[in-house]
Amino acid sequence: MSATPARRILAVVPVLALLVLSACTAGGTVHARQITVGQPALSAAPAAPSASPSPTAKPTPGSLDWYVSQVPTFPEAPPPQPVPLPATGPAQFWHRLPTDQKVAFITIDDGGLARPPEVADFVWRAHIPVTMFLNSPAAEEHTDYFRQIMVAGGVVENHTITHTSLAGRSYDRQKHEICGAADKLQALYGKRPTLFRPPFGEHDSTTLTAAYDCGAKAVFHWTETVHEGKVRYQTPEKVVHPGDVLLMHFRPALMDDLLAALKAIHRAGLTPALLEDYVR
Ligand SMILES: [Zn+2]
Repeated sequence: MSATPARRILAVVPVLALLVLSACTAGGTVHARQITVGQPALSAAPAAPSASPSPTAKPTPGSLDWYVSQVPTFPEAPPPQPVPLPATGPAQFWHRLPTDQKVAFITIDDGGLARPPEVADFVWRAHIPVTMFLNSPAAEEHTDYFRQIMVAGGVVENHTITHTSLAGRSYDRQKHEICGAADKLQALYGKRPTLFRPPFGEHDSTTLTAAYDCGAKAVFHWTETVHEGKVRYQTPEKVVHPGDVLLMHFRPALMDDLLAALKAIHRAGLTPALLEDYVR
């Protein structure tokens, strides 16, 4: 099984998965069609696929099946080597995770603006590791939506209560935003966030101290943004590097953004991995 070239990110969700390669003429590339067995009953979960899908059947562009069919086949993710952390605060601040392992990380922010309904099923079926930096009011109002992505393998982390810029604010004000959101997210999802992303990426040394005091081990910026299906690089080489953190948002085009991120990671010869496996 481990030698199967079509093997994908199987460590994320313990599910029996059968991978069937089919040549897809679109783009002249070979894609993997994936059949999962034993899915939980997510909303809008598709009916179990037949045991012998027709190799010529092509999903309708824009459908969930189509998005899944477009996901590249990745090299097997290496066993994660967590980054050593100091025993005390403040929290670490990183643009990208300091690792040479051939992995990159997908992060999705906010949660209040838009929540495309098929994201949980896409994450589940394509085994996409995602970290969600949520504002706590959005998490409270749409708890089930984000819980379904958690069931699919995603992890909820902290992005403040009100999405205000923290830089220059007092310790008490910053701690209120960070600890307040952490308390709410812990109550909603049963796990206290261990990672924090400041709104707009704006932070100062007080932010790192307050984040640590609220339970965060690391504070993350990003190295690429993805919007409406386009990856924007912050380095001139326009390639995803090992440890890079890709930022997208809960916006209407999130399905396209996820697919674009996966393709960019694949072009770089990397495999998507879960940030929490590297920061423990
Ligand atoms: Zn944000």
